[in-house]
Amino acid sequence: MGDIAGSRHEHAGTKRLDFPFPDERSHITDDSVLTAATAEAILYSGDGVPDYGAAYLSWARRYPGAGYGGGFKKWMQAASGASVPPAYGSYGNGSAMRVSPVGWLFDSDDDVLREAESSAAVTHNHREGVKGAQAVALAVLRAREGLNGPDLAAEIARRFGYELAPSTDELRREYRFDATCKGTVPAALLCVREADGFEHGVRLAVSLGGDADTLACIAGSILEPVFGIPDEIRRFARTKIPGDIRRLLDAFEQVVRA
Ligand SMILES: [Mg+2]
Repeated sequence: MGDIAGSRHEHAGTKRLDFPFPDERSHITDDSVLTAATAEAILYSGDGVPDYGAAYLSWARRYPGAGYGGGFKKWMQAASGASVPPAYGSYGNGSAMRVSPVGWLFDSDDDVLREAESSAAVTHNHREGVKGAQAVALAVLRAREGLNGPDLAAEIARRFGYELAPSTDELRREYRFDATCKGTVPAALLCVREADGFEHGVRLAVSLGGDADTLACIAGSILEPVFGIPDEIRRFARTKIPGDIRRLLDAFEQVVRA
């Protein structure tokens, strides 16, 4: 839902909170496609070792125009057949936008940190790329464990060495489009810290005027286990999700609720 909400604001520099939400014209982008890929890699890893690279490649090929960054596009194009090209040292926010299923499908710090690293490392094997994925996945786990937004944001920021701005109002004044992990994950944590509900947190993320779909996707990933998603918003999001991702989401939710 974060990705969908941000989809119409990605390069718009939106600096306000009162935009239409949900917006009938909004849609999923690469963030949702690759999040589905992460879930599939874990849910259907026959031998218990998820093949994240193969999943990213196959889902990206199924949705080639979903809005990938330049490095990822080259990585896709370098693939021939089913062989996965080498990682390209990215520190972009792509590793953090697609990692949330790791925080839901693994239950210990060690497992979450290891799998977040594995999911990042197939493309984003720069230290900051791995760190961003680990920070978001661990934040999801902490929220599932019952930590509230401010406590969770403080713990994750301390642990991963992120400095959070004093407030979204202050950050908004200077914030620009930034597609790095380092420029996106702390901003998402700040939105989680200030949010009084799921919708408010997603609105805050979009209102910073940055890489809106990815920032709202990351914030939304963490806001869901903190607050839950109101039924009306959940129903809307499902109308925007294509059938193959919806079927995967159903399988995912069955496992998570079991
Ligand atoms: Mg996107």
